[in-house]
Amino acid sequence: MAEKDYYKILGVSRNASKEEIKKAYKRLAKKYHPDLNPDDPKAAEKFKEINEAASVLGDDEKRKQYDMYGSEGLKFGTGRGGFDFSGFDFSGFDFSDFGFDRFDFDSIFDTFFSGGFRSRRSSAFRTPRTSRGRDLTYDLYITLEEAAKGVKKKIRVTKNYVCEECSGRGGRGIITCPDCHGTGIYRETRRTAFGLFQTSTTCRACNGTGESIREPCEACDGTGRVRRTRLIEVDVPAGIMDGAKLRVAGEGEAGYRGAKPGDLYLLIRVKPHELFERRGDDLFLNHTISFVQAVLGGKVKVPTIDGEATLKIPPGTQPGTVLRMRGKGIKHLHGFGRGDQLVRINIEVPKKLSKKQEKLLREFDKSLR
Ligand SMILES: [Zn+2]
Ligand SMILES: [Zn+2]
Repeated sequence: MAEKDYYKILGVSRNASKEEIKKAYKRLAKKYHPDLNPDDPKAAEKFKEINEAASVLGDDEKRKQYDMYGSEGLKFGTGRGGFDFSGFDFSGFDFSDFGFDRFDFDSIFDTFFSGGFRSRRSSAFRTPRTSRGRDLTYDLYITLEEAAKGVKKKIRVTKNYVCEECSGRGGRGIITCPDCHGTGIYRETRRTAFGLFQTSTTCRACNGTGESIREPCEACDGTGRVRRTRLIEVDVPAGIMDGAKLRVAGEGEAGYRGAKPGDLYLLIRVKPHELFERRGDDLFLNHTISFVQAVLGGKVKVPTIDGEATLKIPPGTQPGTVLRMRGKGIKHLHGFGRGDQLVRINIEVPKKLSKKQEKLLREFDKSLR
């Protein structure tokens, strides 16, 4: 393997601080994460390289070794007994198995710092193949009426479902992986000019699961999951707000060989309504009445989210008055009851009058004096 310039890969100077390295790593890892570049095979390569560079420069000991001996020096070791670059082999690790949304840059980088890849199945970084399925996020558009009353929605989701042929097991006859004896780790001891040294990598035969399948399922190639598009029914509760995130447990991607599925997150988008404006759980409505109704008062029909309702106009209502209709708003998402409907009154001044109407108004005007 050719000598690699890890500083160049991260775009930092040779005396960059750890903070600078971390910053550069986060920026680049976000840019090249395979989830964000599904059509660019070079991105995955680049992403791997960035992780490799960060794992070395983020670890004081490895960085020192690297500064002295270069990337090849890291592999062949130096000093007494050889430097043990055991732990992590990026070529055997598929970062793309971590969805972008689950890719926690800080914790991964901190793992580099602590040299954490040495431990098998560390909690910070589980073997990818045994990890649960990915979470999914979908935008769900609903109307204001649906948000007010709640709705059952069927949405079409393309994702990895549990394979029915093998019930997600991946096949028949699960045995201990002969290559790694069930440890999920492949160890190799090599004798070099610098002495003995050992490398451990994720077992490729079983992808680190420690298990192997005698008769892999043909429908899913032994993965226990198949890609399909299906309708999923979700319950949207009454009172949900625009921008809310609804979690549907277990409806994310199926896990590898029966591992736990991810969750489905629905980002709720409430479409604007042509009449009502929502403020909290209250609804605002502009309503126009005649000037006679305003003067004399009376009952008018106004739209509500449940259909037409009667609103009482008190005599002498002024333009701009806001009348409250209790309980005609949106159901409170948490707890009982509903918000109110607030009706802002506009008053229409007639533009054209008949001779008779004009006469009546003039008489009315006279009566005021
Ligand atoms: Zn194995
Ligand atoms: Zn199957």
